[in-house]
Amino acid sequence: KITVFWFRRDLRIDDNHGFYKALQSGHPVLPVFIFDTTILKRLENSYDLRVDYIHQAVTELNKRFSEYGSVLHIAYGTPLQVFEELVNTYTIHEVITNQDYEPQAIHRDEEVALFLKSKNILFSGYKDQVVFEKHEILKSDATPYTVFTPYSKKWKVLLKEKPLYLYESEKLLSHLYKTEPSDPPSLDKIGFEKTAIQYTVPVLDKNIIDTYDHYRDYPSLDHTTHLGVALRFGTISIRKCVQFALKHNEIWLNELIWREFFMQILFHFPKVVHRCFKEKYERIPWKNDEAEFERWCQGKTGYPIVDAGMRELNETGFMHNRVRMITASFLCKHLLIDWRWGEAYFAQKLLDYDLSANNGNWQWAAGCGCDAAPYFRIFNPEEQTKKFDKQLHYVKKWVPEYGTQRYIEPIIDHRQARERALDVYKKALLNN
Ligand code: FAD
Repeated sequence: KITVFWFRRDLRIDDNHGFYKALQSGHPVLPVFIFDTTILKRLENSYDLRVDYIHQAVTELNKRFSEYGSVLHIAYGTPLQVFEELVNTYTIHEVITNQDYEPQAIHRDEEVALFLKSKNILFSGYKDQVVFEKHEILKSDATPYTVFTPYSKKWKVLLKEKPLYLYESEKLLSHLYKTEPSDPPSLDKIGFEKTAIQYTVPVLDKNIIDTYDHYRDYPSLDHTTHLGVALRFGTISIRKCVQFALKHNEIWLNELIWREFFMQILFHFPKVVHRCFKEKYERIPWKNDEAEFERWCQGKTGYPIVDAGMRELNETGFMHNRVRMITASFLCKHLLIDWRWGEAYFAQKLLDYDLSANNGNWQWAAGCGCDAAPYFRIFNPEEQTKKFDKQLHYVKKWVPEYGTQRYIEPIIDHRQARERALDVYKKALLNN
């Protein structure tokens, strides 16, 4: 009999809760990863940074497991197809995994659980992706928090009551199922191309985190950790990040709490995937001009900080947080384009794309989310540039033609756009 451990958003060996439990199960552990065709088929492009990132990360895992005379069983198909096959090949005592809180993932796991139950196989999920999940942090009336500050206070109190525990899965690898090592299928074979992404083992950089609060807002300094993708796919442990943050920088800790805040919003209010958290914002009559949207996507709005951000995104799959806020606000307020269009574009391009963070932040920018900035606060791109890119280092890096005749005229005048946005929002929100 074997135990199967199903890797998903936890592509690491160390401090992996579910993996640790599997390795302690008393049965040899077959680690499995599934390239899920239901997800892959939805991707628009065969050049996809994230698929390549995952592919490199699972290749690394496989290499490590082969040192123990084992293998990462990498499958391609729907989870149900893959489990049917596994059940026919092995005698499985239990399938263990880590919890995933996105609506589609919950649905997928319910289906798999049902199937395994019909075969008398246990299926269990552990908390690994977050420090606090589901119903652990609730208000005194047992409802979820929808405002960040009180949520984060409660989060910190709870952490004092329940200190972090690390699960040393990396020390139990001798419990892996022994089999002939083999190479994973190539990217090509699963229908994707090699991209510019180079997977490296994520590290907690003391130099960056110690001074994060001083420099994090200046895009040209690029003084943030770039750990978003590692947290998204679990190539780094959130518990280790939090331990590090507690020692080094509470401001950085707050960012990790923002991540969990939006995750619990998505868990408790799954409707946000398609709808405004604040329902009345559905009444905004978005202008949704396709040509203007295209200019925003391409970084050709004539607003240098916006264009710089969009070009950074298009070229690298990353955009600095300050600039994400500026470009998102610009799309919703200046161009009156539905936040869902921008959200979908970011989802396609960001290496660190995460449904809960992306959705939460887009709704924040549009003003329709929980704990969002009030709608009358509209980012002024020029003021933002003066504050955060005074020397124009960031702008000039991404928009080299800025300041020459070749640079385009602004897509819209800031003052007019601001007034129009205020007017449209106000009218839409006024009538009950
Ligand atoms: P750091 O500044 O080093 O922060 C560390 C980690 O904290 C991040 O990696 C991330 O996991 C978390 N974090 C930081 N800020 C936030 C935040 N505001 N909300 C939630 N988590 C946060 N973040 C994503 O991880 N995925 C997304 O798809 C995403 N989309 C965004 C869209 C918009 C419009 C905006 C304004 C922000 C978005 N963010 C998203 C949040 C934030 O911009 C990124 O997490 C951050 O820029 C990633 O860079 P970093 O890894 O260097 O982060």
